[in-house]
Amino acid sequence: MTQPQRHLVTCALPYANGPLHIGHIAGCFLPSDIYVRHLRSMGKDVLFVCGTDEHGVPITLKAANEGITPQDVVDKNYDIIKRSLEEWGVKFDNFSRTTRPIHHETASDFFRTLYDKNVFSEQVTEQFYDEKADQFLADRYITGECPNCGFAEAYGDQCENCGTTLSPKELINPKSALTGNVPVKKETRNWFLPLDKLQSEFLNDWVATKKEVWKPHVFGQCMSWLNDGLKPRAMTRDLNWGVPVPVEGAEGKVMYVWFDAPIGYISATKEIRDDWKDWWQNPETEMTHFLGKDNIVFHTIIFPAMLHAHGDYNLPTHVPANEFLNLEGQKLSTSRNHAVWLHEYLEDFPGKEDELRYVLTSIMPESKDSDFSWSDFQARVNNELVAIVGNWVNRVMVLSHKFCDGVVPANEDRADYTVIEEVDAVVKRVDALVEKFSFREALTETINIARTGNKYLQDTAPWHAIKEEGGQKRVEEILNVSLQLVARFAKVCEAFLPNTSQKISAMVHLSGAELKAGGPLEKPSLLFEKIEDEQIQNQLDKLEAQASANQDVREKLEPIKPTITFDDFTKLDLRVGTIVEAQKVKKADKLLQLLVDIGLEKRTILSGIAQHFSPEDLIGKQAVVVTNLAPRKMRGVESNGMLLMAENTEGELVFVSPEKEFLPGAIVR
Ligand SMILES: [Zn+2]
Repeated sequence: MTQPQRHLVTCALPYANGPLHIGHIAGCFLPSDIYVRHLRSMGKDVLFVCGTDEHGVPITLKAANEGITPQDVVDKNYDIIKRSLEEWGVKFDNFSRTTRPIHHETASDFFRTLYDKNVFSEQVTEQFYDEKADQFLADRYITGECPNCGFAEAYGDQCENCGTTLSPKELINPKSALTGNVPVKKETRNWFLPLDKLQSEFLNDWVATKKEVWKPHVFGQCMSWLNDGLKPRAMTRDLNWGVPVPVEGAEGKVMYVWFDAPIGYISATKEIRDDWKDWWQNPETEMTHFLGKDNIVFHTIIFPAMLHAHGDYNLPTHVPANEFLNLEGQKLSTSRNHAVWLHEYLEDFPGKEDELRYVLTSIMPESKDSDFSWSDFQARVNNELVAIVGNWVNRVMVLSHKFCDGVVPANEDRADYTVIEEVDAVVKRVDALVEKFSFREALTETINIARTGNKYLQDTAPWHAIKEEGGQKRVEEILNVSLQLVARFAKVCEAFLPNTSQKISAMVHLSGAELKAGGPLEKPSLLFEKIEDEQIQNQLDKLEAQASANQDVREKLEPIKPTITFDDFTKLDLRVGTIVEAQKVKKADKLLQLLVDIGLEKRTILSGIAQHFSPEDLIGKQAVVVTNLAPRKMRGVESNGMLLMAENTEGELVFVSPEKEFLPGAIVR
């Protein structure tokens, strides 16, 4: 199979609601970077694009939780993600963002084209609506039980437990992620991509051509959706964070995040290349999307359907999705902080970028889920990188300095060239494996070159040969062959271990494929260091501390009180109050005397919060007040009500306040 000359390679856009962990890395960043480095080493024209996906509901939910704007959330995470990828050495041509004007413009044009071609079906439908939050509940604004697997926390667009794509209406016992309320249904107009129609017109035939091209699990997942029969899917949302829908009657609506996100690949190209159409619309360009298995449906069905419906674009050739990586036998989890974060790894293991690449490639979840453990990390680095690769290169360099004055010795008779030919065959195998996205096997073959080199040195034993008749010439031949093998290793490992490749190339002054006799050699420096037990223990302690923190917090929580009736609840008179005066109470170091405006009147309330707040900080603060509590006298002062507070397991106190400044006296229910 001959490879085309021009390649567009995309890596799934990371979602800008947090930093990257090793699961993201093993899922798409590492495989795409290996593939691109390989293509470049073969002299191909490659464009490699990515960027952060900055729209969608989880970002607005996170912003609301943290009391900041969605833009603040994405700005912060874009910087962390971009910096960690750069430091780690992923070579994107462009790492863009979907909040940039170029993306909004590109996504708008794309939507407009489909709209003008009458691709969308316009439907007024009933959507879930949270009356309390005054908002429609799209996608992740709504949670409930998965109809497929019964998972209790499925989202309105997807169950993360079984991977099924869902629509909010399919959830059992849906509730609002904003307020926990049971939502009502309300009519709204949205634009749907008729996937049912696109399936029969296009997807069935197109996907069938991928049977031998895509990995079996990718093709299998895709076929199971097609076999179930696709349904029209709304491409617009009643939200205010996203790319505005550019058609009349769609004011206040934005594009579905999975409509605009893959167009991010196009805008990232457009941003840096005037000839962007050549990369996207010229059929001689081959397109490859790297992604994790949770994104398969979007890259094998929805995005290709959009590209087909548009009409001007190429379709992807390869969609080499990976499965999931686990950590120490458990699912990686951002919310439980059960993860190894890329930016933290780079801090904890400075200069060890290649070690992480090596281990993650060795265990890459190419066709099934796999597990990262710190003890395995240590074993692979120490027993493979240090003991096999590092040791071999070092011995060759030290012997060359000892016996050949630090220059590449001659081997005019091409003695032992069969070993070099053997390794050249391995190099070809590595290339073929990378082109089949079999990175694990390709890496094993690459390390086998070092194994072959070690064995060759052991078998020929230059330290003995030097003592025999004609020993110097023989030793020079052996070291010439050894250095040629080192040079080949440096070249072929570039895709997997770029820093190591660079270090070796500098040591032997490698420019072409072969080393020339007489060329200078630098003094050897160690390529890898052993990972010590202490370093591994530190990482395990970090995970352990996080796990017990999660556990402790839960265990300390008080159990839920017995059920009350709704009538019990409505007996409480709860109102918003504003603190207008605050002072200490004589001889009571815990009490503060507050004057609280509750709209109808001002109340004196005593509160046991003197050790948490100073009186001057409280003026103007709002809180929920229980106003019909029987009066109670303390230290000669009558208290007429109670301020609601929340207390965490550490004993910290915060006021229960309205989300924004509200009129005092407003009823809370
Ligand atoms: Zn499920």
